[in-house]
Amino acid sequence: MKFGKALVFVLVLAIITGALYIGNEQEKKTETKKKDWALVIHGGAGTISKDKPDSVVKAYKNDLSEALAVGEEILKNGGSALDAVENVINYLENNPKFNAGKGAVFTHDGGHELDAAMMVGNTREAGTITGVKTVKNPISLARLVMENSKHVMFAGDGAEKYADKFELERVNQDYFFTEHRHKAWKRALKREKQEDAQSSVIDLSPEELKQKYGTVGAVAVDKEGQIVAGTSTGGMTNKKFGRVGDVPIIGSGTYASDVVAVSMTGWGEKIMRAVSGHTVSAYMKHKPASIEEAGNYLLEDVLDKGDAGMIGVDKKGNIFMGMNTQGMFRGASDSEGNREVAIWK
Ligand code: ASP
Repeated sequence: MKFGKALVFVLVLAIITGALYIGNEQEKKTETKKKDWALVIHGGAGTISKDKPDSVVKAYKNDLSEALAVGEEILKNGGSALDAVENVINYLENNPKFNAGKGAVFTHDGGHELDAAMMVGNTREAGTITGVKTVKNPISLARLVMENSKHVMFAGDGAEKYADKFELERVNQDYFFTEHRHKAWKRALKREKQEDAQSSVIDLSPEELKQKYGTVGAVAVDKEGQIVAGTSTGGMTNKKFGRVGDVPIIGSGTYASDVVAVSMTGWGEKIMRAVSGHTVSAYMKHKPASIEEAGNYLLEDVLDKGDAGMIGVDKKGNIFMGMNTQGMFRGASDSEGNREVAIWK
């Protein structure tokens, strides 16, 4: 009898030890090592026609690749995620193809009002600006706000005044002009007249809204483990009366926490109402969930089809690029040699 009991005891012990061992091994497998660095970029999401000539597709991919190279150079030499995000976005702001800086869309009144935001996850420092008209590179002003001001956000004339304190390159509104954005604005005005949409503040049809792409963003994690998010935009064509989109609203279009950095693009009003960036972070932290699960949750369960695209990086360098639109100009690269640029799903 005594022998029988001892045998049962030994067997139970062996089963428990075995189960613990298997559990441990599985945990080791799923626990990924932190990458030295990782970088993800976007150049806007929306209805992107597949009929574009090969030369145009090639040119977009080339420019996304060049933007990635700017950040890679910084990160692989031990530079900071902050510098990588700012410099990548500067490149995209200076590129007329994208709706940020040069190439920004037209407001209803025929001008350009720019929004940008930057945030560091580890420290929760953030800087954002909205409705800026003369700053060539709005993301650099957002960084200056973050690093020098006790405030987080400056708007309109106040943001211009804040910019006066620094040696930032200033331009007049003509600098932002591009033929294709001008045509899009004229089309929007014509459509608006036809529809006589007096009751709506942002007078764009859902179809038109879906076609607005070009906002730029970047997220990165560096060697030191600092995670940073940045986004810069001209907003939406034909926007009115000081309209502020999701981009400069911390927690919406731009957000970074101790677990993830997120930059959004798409229909700003929808992104804002879903507090998208913060939703992703909170879902990861409290579920808990991977960046992949959290990104898909936001795009599939919270936002509506056709609303948005998202890029993100977690503190280990796992990346996410997803959209519920037809396409998103995007690219990613990391210290393990993974590199891609893409447009459609
Ligand atoms: N989200 C931007 C805004 O609403 C626009 C975009 O991403 O294209 O201002």
